[in-house]
Amino acid sequence: MITLEQLKQSSDRIKKIRPTYEPILDFYDKVFLAQEQSRQDIVLSPIVIEPDLLRIKQKNNLPLIDPSEFLIDVTAAGRLFDTICDLAIKFAPKLSSSARCLKTATSSSSFDLEALFSAIRDNQDAVLQDLAKRLNVPENDLVFLGYTSIAPSIQVCSEQLTPYLTGMPELGKGYCPICGHHPDMAFLDSEGKRHLKCCFCAHEWATKRIGCAFCGNNDPELQHYFFTDEEKEYRVNLCDHCHHYIKVVDLRQMDRAFYPRLEQITTLHLDIKAREKGYIDSGALTNEDSIE
Ligand SMILES: [Zn+2]
Ligand SMILES: [Zn+2]
Repeated sequence: MITLEQLKQSSDRIKKIRPTYEPILDFYDKVFLAQEQSRQDIVLSPIVIEPDLLRIKQKNNLPLIDPSEFLIDVTAAGRLFDTICDLAIKFAPKLSSSARCLKTATSSSSFDLEALFSAIRDNQDAVLQDLAKRLNVPENDLVFLGYTSIAPSIQVCSEQLTPYLTGMPELGKGYCPICGHHPDMAFLDSEGKRHLKCCFCAHEWATKRIGCAFCGNNDPELQHYFFTDEEKEYRVNLCDHCHHYIKVVDLRQMDRAFYPRLEQITTLHLDIKAREKGYIDSGALTNEDSIE
């Protein structure tokens, strides 16, 4: 875990080397800070997995829980939602009208924030579509603001569950051993070992160094990558078997502390390039494109 001071330094460093991201980072710096502060206030009882159930999960290589089992501190998430809407109104031009609309809605009884939070957690697309229509905001904005607010709760639960993974075999395929969601980023640690990061609960797990992070394909003819000399810390892996791509951060090439979400949103140019080449991402819930 990096400190808030390191996070600020990393963000300042990126603004310097890639100034196009400065406006978006002016917003995200404050969002990250608000999320880290919100974490301190979270009160949740631990999720317990009974030994019999744990054995079944282990034996069948299943994730520990279904995402719907994540607990949300609705009070903390509600406060964070309000803060992030305020930040969006001031610092994120493309989000500001949705944020204003949602802030007004939260003060009326017609909009139940808890229902939004559970619909995002449980991936209830029809509910979200319906809610977005009723509130007259784009569904992407609604999901972005809602997910950003519940992320600290989800991460607290995920960290609390991590000890249950002790002794579990390394998963061959690309899903989170805690919640089963896809990875949205990979990184190579100081020893060159590859890890994947969950798009939903932010859990990081070690995985095989080679092969597609999604389908496990290992055929050198089908596995490609691209990178640029100016950004030696990034590589994008492309799979011609399942047509997914994943961004890989090489921590051995980094001149700053690693905060995955920060690197994620300041590499949108790599997402664009990968998509232009015809590859798709993991379909992660938190698509930042609308914020740019
Ligand atoms: Zn996860
Ligand atoms: Zn693949």
